[in-house]
Amino acid sequence: MARRYNGHMNGEQYLGNKAKKQVHDLDNEKTGANECQIDEIIRAGNDTPFSSLAAAHGAGYADCDYCLK
Ligand SMILES: [Zn+2]
Repeated sequence: MARRYNGHMNGEQYLGNKAKKQVHDLDNEKTGANECQIDEIIRAGNDTPFSSLAAAHGAGYADCDYCLK
């Protein structure tokens, strides 16, 4: 998979899911029914772009268990 240019995303490396307050690394995305589900997050309108992990953490987002562990 790859960085996104749809929803609220414009090529940023990190995508926050504002529903779960969880951040994903799109350069290390894991695909599958129980994994990152990035496209589901974008479809739900819950995607929030971050250009750095520090910015996501500063906004209170926790690391995804799949792509950031
Ligand atoms: Zn993830």
